[in-house]
Amino acid sequence: MALWENNVRKVVPYVPGEQPKVKDIIKLNTNENPYGPSKKVLDKAMELERLKLYPDPAATDLVDTIAKYHGLKSNQVFVGVGSDNVLAMAFMTFFNSDKKLLFPDITYSFYDVWAELFGIPYEQIPVDQDFKLRAEDYYVENGGIIFPNPNAPTGIAEPLSFVEDIVKNNQDVIVIVDEAYVDFGGETALPLIDKYDNLLVVRTFSKSRSMAGLRIGYAMGNEKLIKYLNDVKYSYNSYTMNMPSIILGKESILDDEYFKDTVAKVIDTREWFKEEIEKLGFSCPPSAANFLFITHNSLEAKYIFEKAKENKIFVRFFDKPRINNHLRVTIGTREEMEVFLEFLKKLV
Ligand code: PMP
Repeated sequence: MALWENNVRKVVPYVPGEQPKVKDIIKLNTNENPYGPSKKVLDKAMELERLKLYPDPAATDLVDTIAKYHGLKSNQVFVGVGSDNVLAMAFMTFFNSDKKLLFPDITYSFYDVWAELFGIPYEQIPVDQDFKLRAEDYYVENGGIIFPNPNAPTGIAEPLSFVEDIVKNNQDVIVIVDEAYVDFGGETALPLIDKYDNLLVVRTFSKSRSMAGLRIGYAMGNEKLIKYLNDVKYSYNSYTMNMPSIILGKESILDDEYFKDTVAKVIDTREWFKEEIEKLGFSCPPSAANFLFITHNSLEAKYIFEKAKENKIFVRFFDKPRINNHLRVTIGTREEMEVFLEFLKKLV
């Protein structure tokens, strides 16, 4: 090893789900929304002649629109390049304690990567045998808490009272609730942000808004939290939000009818698909997300994953303890799920 390598920051990166290059596949592996952005968003994309200019560093138009939509003040909203960027900024900003950051052992697998990258001590709290979080496990001394609600990759949602219990018992640290999937049936913690100044709620345009390719995420919280986030952002890169994100993100929020319609379709397809696969010997926790976390009573998850891939159907398999006999299946269109169901019937 060359000596200069002693001074290199070495990390084990997060590995996102595969984006296959082959055509004509059914893609149920990265929790995208199959319906795509609304026509109003696509029409607006034709009007991007202003690209020669730098974007507004504060992304004011987008921030104001999001704030208004949620009934907040603009200084309660922070936007970033997907919620991954928002979360990374939040880790950098808020988790600067010598005490351990707490998050579940089965959860979004980027949390431990950021903790490692930023040198944050952390502890992964085991979820119970039904993959559920226990609020009491978080009533210990810590340097911060983060969990998704609904959780990923299980899809299990906790009620608002559960989230409030955790926030109430941890008012000396920042608690982040990652609500990437909340629109598909979860209960938002948003009503708590005026009551607790230590709560940050994070959302994304990638799932329910069908805009994973654009990269927009946002955080909502007390104005002091948002200011601290902006201070870090402006110390790192002022222009995180590009002009298309600002313009098209705003348009997406304004087209609420399309948003509600496509989310309802995903939920509908999820519930139908769940019922159908249960008849085939599969089981999964109740999901409030745009995916199901499935396991079969005799076929191994890895086997199903590989066979599906041979048939050009991509789902997600995590080769990790406790969850290596499960598959996370994104809910596609009804037609896509019918094809997947037929495949599963034949396999079983
Ligand atoms: N949080 C959770 C729980 C997720 O599953 C994802 C998707 N990988 C993200 C955040 C990040 O999504 P994005 O960066 O596309 O907003």
